[in-house]
Amino acid sequence: MQKRTVHCGEVSVADIGKQVILDGWVQRARDHGGLIFIDLRDRTGVIQTVIDPQAAPKAHKVGEAARSEFVLEIIGEVRRRPAGSENPNLSTGDVEVAVTDVEILNTAKTPPFAIADDIQVDENVRLTYRYLDLRRPEMQRRLFLRHRVVKLIRDFMDSRGFVEVETPILIKSTPEGARDYLVPCRIYPGTFYALPQSPQQLKQLLMVAGFERYFQIARCFRDEDPRADRQPEFTQLDLEMSFIKQEDVFEVMDDLHAEIIEKLSGKRLKFPKPFPRFSYNDVMERFGIDKPDLRYGMELFDVTDIAAATEFQVFKTVAEAGGRVKGIALPGLAGYSRKEIDDLMAFARTFGAKGLVTVAVTEEGPKSSISKFVAEGQMSAMLERAQAKTGDLLAIVADTPAVVANVLGRMRADMGKKLGLADKNEVAFCWIVDFPLVEWKDEEQRWDAMHHPFTSPHEDDVQYLDTDPGRVRAWCYDMVCNGFELGSGSVRIHRRDIQQKVFKLMNYSDEEAQARFGHMLEAFEYGAPPHGGFATGLDRTVTLLTDDESIREVMAFPKTATGYDPMTKAPSPVPPEQLEELHVRVEVEEEE
Ligand code: ASP
Repeated sequence: MQKRTVHCGEVSVADIGKQVILDGWVQRARDHGGLIFIDLRDRTGVIQTVIDPQAAPKAHKVGEAARSEFVLEIIGEVRRRPAGSENPNLSTGDVEVAVTDVEILNTAKTPPFAIADDIQVDENVRLTYRYLDLRRPEMQRRLFLRHRVVKLIRDFMDSRGFVEVETPILIKSTPEGARDYLVPCRIYPGTFYALPQSPQQLKQLLMVAGFERYFQIARCFRDEDPRADRQPEFTQLDLEMSFIKQEDVFEVMDDLHAEIIEKLSGKRLKFPKPFPRFSYNDVMERFGIDKPDLRYGMELFDVTDIAAATEFQVFKTVAEAGGRVKGIALPGLAGYSRKEIDDLMAFARTFGAKGLVTVAVTEEGPKSSISKFVAEGQMSAMLERAQAKTGDLLAIVADTPAVVANVLGRMRADMGKKLGLADKNEVAFCWIVDFPLVEWKDEEQRWDAMHHPFTSPHEDDVQYLDTDPGRVRAWCYDMVCNGFELGSGSVRIHRRDIQQKVFKLMNYSDEEAQARFGHMLEAFEYGAPPHGGFATGLDRTVTLLTDDESIREVMAFPKTATGYDPMTKAPSPVPPEQLEELHVRVEVEEEE
């Protein structure tokens, strides 16, 4: 092998007449009964090379053996392609290399799928041969883009005075609402490390340590029930700041995300900085969900007062019981068939609604099964409230506020997707603030943190911690983008007494709090500064730029949606000796 002089995709008309040495993979080899054409590919692109048996008999002999994905070194002279044979689809399409020498650096079996952008292959096969999948240009583009995002983040955070600090992977449990992955410890029999669900406690301790501005491109591990777009491990941009209010976090994050979009995507920000903020209550009222896609409207409308006055019994009963009657206007669906409306009802039932009322706004006026119970004036008042246009189909739910929000929020998101309401070239960021500190867990009969137990309550609401915990607001915020929760964070508790109070509210006994979080409580006694922070999902951020649905597309070696790695076949059993060393005995219950 000699020293490569140029990458395949970088050969241009400026090189005509020059001798080049190229290294790469055979994209395609064609023997035209005499001339052999080899398209050679490396990470920069593809160049056509030609071996003439007269001019280079030795190279021709070697070239005859070349097959797809063989690794070759090709030496030759760059020349202009004969007129008419240029390839405008190729960046190197005006030139070709007249080969003088070829060396086969390695052979290759026929790959299980083509190394090309458009392939129709089961994802399991792609993951089994991920090293071949990653050879495909579109996968290389994704990972190069991911690299650019991380590089931009690092440079940006550095320019704002943040210092990157690595925190350990073998640590004690940090709750973020999931199960821990545990690692048995050989040296201390019967004990376990937990893989961090996030660096939460460590970054707070770095604030106690006086670093003031920390960030990390951090790996997090959460053992959750598999879901299509979940991964057992994922990457966060994690940060923490001292002596700040939530506004300071917003400012840094608005600037960073605007820069990512402006520099690394061809998209435009729907809302300029500062990104809009919504209170949790407000966003639930208007969109029924705490991560609305703001690229389109279709907000919920509230007709409880009008509905209460109608003769429609369901509406009356719900309104009298303190429930709500709300709806959304689905644009252009007034002509929905019976079957389509039934599907919409089934959708509503799946998410807890007992029924769904529809009103089709047609040229001839509103059409609905409840028309006979609703006076004309009431109907037109409802249409006005809904800002309904001819052609709309109103979908109305009457139920408790929580059910109404859940059903309509999901319907808005689902129909928004089906109707293609979002402009793919737009990115709409917003902040959701003023979340409740805790939520009631019915199954466990206890209050639990809405975010995590280190979130600070609003000073004004601390008084309700004992008497009415549900009304305590938290200094807690989510960043939402295009219908995804991109990140969340909070101003933290930095006083031992308040932290203890919150642990107690969540039903941790003093002993338990001490055993799990004693180090935090103690650290707060050594001059912990007021601090707060945030973390965003890096994988998701990259998919905002690539328009991929799944974060697996932007991870080099992801697991399947069920947490399996078909390439290495992890997780897998281990030899008994290894278990013995770890003092672990395994008993697997037979599945029924
Ligand atoms: N640790 C939190 C999370 O992973 C983020 C934060 O509060 O900074 O969601």
